[in-house]
Amino acid sequence: MTHTPEDLAGAVLSINLVALQENWRTLQRHAAPAECGAAVKGNAYGLGIAPVARALWEAGCRSFFVARPKEGEELRAILPTATIYVLDGLFPGQAEFYAKLKLCPALISLEEAREWAAFGRVYGRRLACALHVDTGINRLGFSQPEFEALLSDRQTMDGLEISLLMSHLACADEPAHPMNACQRDAFAAIRARLPGVPASLANSSGVFLGSGFTQDLVRPGIALYGGNPTPAAPNPMQAVAVLEGAVLQIRDVRPGETVGYSATWTATRTSRVAVLGAGYKDGVPRALSSRQSDGPAHVFIAGQRCPVIGRISMDMMAIDVTNLPQESVTRGTRAEILGRHIGIDEAAGWAGTISYELLTRLGSRYARLYRGLESDVSV
Ligand SMILES: *Cc1c(COP(=O)(O)O)cnc(C)c1O
Repeated sequence: MTHTPEDLAGAVLSINLVALQENWRTLQRHAAPAECGAAVKGNAYGLGIAPVARALWEAGCRSFFVARPKEGEELRAILPTATIYVLDGLFPGQAEFYAKLKLCPALISLEEAREWAAFGRVYGRRLACALHVDTGINRLGFSQPEFEALLSDRQTMDGLEISLLMSHLACADEPAHPMNACQRDAFAAIRARLPGVPASLANSSGVFLGSGFTQDLVRPGIALYGGNPTPAAPNPMQAVAVLEGAVLQIRDVRPGETVGYSATWTATRTSRVAVLGAGYKDGVPRALSSRQSDGPAHVFIAGQRCPVIGRISMDMMAIDVTNLPQESVTRGTRAEILGRHIGIDEAAGWAGTISYELLTRLGSRYARLYRGLESDVSV
């Protein structure tokens, strides 16, 4: 017998790096002639920065976006020559850290721009950066008056090597939302103030809003990892993360008996219940517990969808397999909790959240398998 992590961990998270690369190529095709970058912040949305970044580099991706300088440091060790933008901007007093690692801060204020330019002067050269201008989301970025103030601050402007002008869309996943056109037009006016500087506006959904949105560089995140960037239409992306739990025990439950903590599910017929070794410690949202409205959550097992019943516990969850042929589910049978049949957007919807939160909250107890790339990628 083998004793692999898969055999011993109970639940398995497989990350399909070939699907990830296919997703990047799909996005690159949609965005062309713009360049397709990748948002890999948050440990590549929970899927693992090192294998994800290597696979994307191998597919041809050259521009990467992280949130924090610490994430930039980790990514620099993996990809020595990639362009790395730090979306949270320049942290106070940390310019030298960015410069040594060749991290480009996405500057968000005049104060940051002055600090970066002043440091460049001490360092002996103009250092690359992006300028992040707010066009309506009111999260990070120069306000438009502050952007004008920067343009007229010659000393600061002379000290900056501006490699990208960027802004972020608030409502890209709702193509008909009027904010999209407003932001695009506001961004066009900003671009006109800095001619010749490459520009970036689109996240995953922005890639599908059309040519006015793709600009020179797009920055998809969730779509690379299998999330649907076009929520009103079928998902053009492939599933990347597959989470499976194994059956620990199967039991017969008589009508009137209940399953799980707080007895929230009651059998209305003689039922067969399979208990899976995956729970909220593994990242299965407790909100998937037997739902009162809009029908139950499901898992995919033995070729069919089966409802989740009772409460999700820390280490396990129960499903109703009464409708499956008796012999099709036995001790050790794997059930897909997330993957090709149970999409991350669908599961997130059942849990009252979004695919981003679902992925970034995946646990660490199960075995993690990276599938699809045979050898280390040289960079
Ligand atoms: C996270 C992020 C992205 C990627 O967004 P997705 O919706 O995951 O494609 C792009 N740009 C900025 C500024 C971000 O913060």
